[in-house]
Amino acid sequence: MLGGGPAGLMAAIAAARHGAKVTLLERMPEPGLKLCATGGGRSNLTNTLANDAFMEKLGRQGRFAEPALRLMGPAQLLEFFASIGVKTHAPDGFHVYPVSESATQVRDALLAEVQRSKVKVLMNMQVVELIRSGDRVAGIKLSKGHMEADAIIIATGSCGYPALGGNDSGYALARSVGHSMAPLAPALVPIITRERWPGELAGVSLPDVRVWVDMPGHSKDGMCGDLLFTHNGISGPAVLDMSGGIAKLLTKQFAVPMRVEVLPRETPQETLARFDAWRSGSGKKQIANLLAEGCALPHSFVKQLLLLAGADPEVIAAELPAAVRDQLVTLLHSLPLTARDTEGFKRAMVVRGGIALRDITSETLESEKLWGLYFAGEVLDIDGPCGGFNLQWAFASGWLAGLSAAGALPK
Ligand SMILES: Cc1cc2nc3c(=O)[nH]c(=O)nc-3n(C[C@H](O)[C@H](O)[C@H](O)COP(=O)(O)OP(=O)(O)OC[C@H]3O[C@@H](n4cnc5c(N)ncnc54)[C@H](O)[C@@H]3O)c2cc1C
Repeated sequence: MLGGGPAGLMAAIAAARHGAKVTLLERMPEPGLKLCATGGGRSNLTNTLANDAFMEKLGRQGRFAEPALRLMGPAQLLEFFASIGVKTHAPDGFHVYPVSESATQVRDALLAEVQRSKVKVLMNMQVVELIRSGDRVAGIKLSKGHMEADAIIIATGSCGYPALGGNDSGYALARSVGHSMAPLAPALVPIITRERWPGELAGVSLPDVRVWVDMPGHSKDGMCGDLLFTHNGISGPAVLDMSGGIAKLLTKQFAVPMRVEVLPRETPQETLARFDAWRSGSGKKQIANLLAEGCALPHSFVKQLLLLAGADPEVIAAELPAAVRDQLVTLLHSLPLTARDTEGFKRAMVVRGGIALRDITSETLESEKLWGLYFAGEVLDIDGPCGGFNLQWAFASGWLAGLSAAGALPK
């Protein structure tokens, strides 16, 4: 087993529970570093979608996940976690987290189960080559020495977030035996904006906004969710979900125009009516305070909005010029931002592309290029949006690859 992330840990447990003698090799000093950072440390493990809807969210490659989800879909995954002592809940009815809200608890529970299952775990292990015997896998060469094996699972993850173990060694091992690659691109990655003002608001978030790419041919529906300002631009679920598409556009053009609808639940006319009501009912109050309280917006963001609209930051409702009021309404419904880059693989929570699926059997996750070689997790060309899709895929594919490699799949 190569890789001690969620896919590798699950695969090791599945194989060992079915009688295989398993060694798990991890190149970092400890396994599951990326898992420990998931969901801002809370780990959004999966979600409550049924398998069909789940696969749709994985996009054009979604059906490939069907056999894995059949065995270890969201419902089975929750049972599995309960069985190893991780209670889960879905506070909003969709995103599933451990009740402890601790990603480290999830990693530790998986590791404890790995150890209970008598898997040998070796850290700081760098695999350099696959050893083959004819059309079968026969073992691996390490930086020091080698190991024999009847089956090998590559669960080495993607090249995203190198600080948490991301690297491209899994891709290289697969290519060395004839697998092809789908082009790699950072996805679920923060956006760097041309505008500098978001940096002034780093750490501030806007709840429940709608973000869209402001170019012909791009859906005006955009993406809904929270937006987070960063030192270099914007992030948060609404932005991350669009970032893969923006990264692709940025390979062809220097900048991508974006718009943010700060108040998507009301129309511009309704917002205008708010201002008019403030003028007549709360004329002596500062617009900054009325906006922050009435629209549930952070004060620092409101201050910036007033600057962008050219308003006096202390202006009271009765004295707000009509032109500035109209400009504020426009900004609240269509705040322009320009993506000039993404934070790249270094900060990509997920990488789009990877080992092409066409040479891998979805029913077993076995290679069609070399018998006895299996794949699981993000190293493959399959990825999903924010919302537990990527961990669920890692867990499910790990489980399937582990059972297949142990010869434990029902015929
Ligand atoms: C900050 C952050 C937050 C995230 N939050 C969420 C979330 O809340 N929900 C969600 O669904 N997804 C989330 N993701 C995505 C999710 O973490 C990944 O999709 C998932 O971890 C992929 O699992 P994996 O086992 O395939 O790969 P990884 O988790 O990357 O594990 C691969 C392991 O293999 C090791 N390795 C690499 N090469 C070798 C080698 N040659 N030999 C031995 N070992 C090797 C690595 O060190 C690593 O430990 C997040 C990602 C990041 C970076």
